[in-house]
Amino acid sequence: MSAFRAELPLLHDRHTHVSFYAALAAAADLSGCRVLGEALEKLGEQKGPLRLGRGWRSNLYELPPAALDRLGPALVCNVSLHSFRMSAPARELLARDFPDIAAGIDDQDWVERHLPRVFSLFTASGAGGIPGFMERLAALGVWAAEDMLVCPEEAALLLARSYAGRVKLWAAPDVYRRLGQEAKKAVGGIKLFADGALGARTAALSGEYLRGGQGLLLHSRDELEGLLREAADLTGRVAVHAIGGAALEQLLSALERSGIPAGDLAVRIEHAQLIGPEQARRAKKLGAVLCMQPNFSSDSADYADRLPEECLRANNPFRMLIDGAGFVPGEDLLFGSDGMPHGARAALEAALFPPYPGQRLALAEFRAGYCLPDTSAGRLALEIDEEKRTAAVEVRLASAL
Ligand SMILES: [Zn+2]
Repeated sequence: MSAFRAELPLLHDRHTHVSFYAALAAAADLSGCRVLGEALEKLGEQKGPLRLGRGWRSNLYELPPAALDRLGPALVCNVSLHSFRMSAPARELLARDFPDIAAGIDDQDWVERHLPRVFSLFTASGAGGIPGFMERLAALGVWAAEDMLVCPEEAALLLARSYAGRVKLWAAPDVYRRLGQEAKKAVGGIKLFADGALGARTAALSGEYLRGGQGLLLHSRDELEGLLREAADLTGRVAVHAIGGAALEQLLSALERSGIPAGDLAVRIEHAQLIGPEQARRAKKLGAVLCMQPNFSSDSADYADRLPEECLRANNPFRMLIDGAGFVPGEDLLFGSDGMPHGARAALEAALFPPYPGQRLALAEFRAGYCLPDTSAGRLALEIDEEKRTAAVEVRLASAL
């Protein structure tokens, strides 16, 4: 059976950045640019006092300061959302309202430690882009979504009031503390970061990157333990970004050592891309939920420039997690996109046709971990071609938006 049809409920994208991507909707989309010239051309077409770009693929080309400066005020976000380039005129423009960001944005260490603050620069324009963004998500087959770093307050309130039941909100501890009562109530949990990202070479590996360096652990184990306790007090729910083996190791040992009862803190581990079998067993024992991104299986092909062979092979080990460690899609193994990219088609193709067999999900596993429980909001009509490794998707919403 090489081609077949199937039907699924719409997606619940468990990890994305609704308020951030909505604010960036008007930015130039550089994700299809393979060379510098294409990116500069797209940025050049941008209007407004500050040219914004998103989806820059730093594994394909660098953005030299001189080239960016010639565009006037310009700010570009890497596809990983963990690294940025700001032109000198943009630095001047933003120095008054965001002096810390203007001074720190070239320092990758600073950026990783202040990511929610950097996001707040992009979302400072408000929440006006959110309705349009939610419509675009629905058209891509994504009905429900989780905003992992909601900001600003206006966005949290709009999402809570207009998209109740469709959107779950998470916030960084600093952002959460500053929210008013109503917004606080709308936020379900605290988001923490243990390490950086592969796209910025800051995910904390157990070994080394090909050209050296091990990435970045953002906290000591004691600090992380303190942050986990704080999350238990604030919301009783935490989602911790941990991609590399060293970050996962630190997080698991902080959780084991903290002795926080599972009833006091529900733990989700975000990405967990390089989780090993022993770590998986410990995560399972701790009752942690893994929230992973099938679309990151392609990192095994895209990041051959920076990751040693054993990391490429160990990335997104879904078969080990399900068949070996006993994780159950929909229960303690959930799926999302991180917006790289959004949509049912990309998610399905990444899940069903990944670079390595150990990354492959069965359609039933995809449904359990990625789809809404029923088709009341709409359905996805699929035509899956195993030979061509494609999934054509027709999105049928239950009602017009
Ligand atoms: Zn994210």
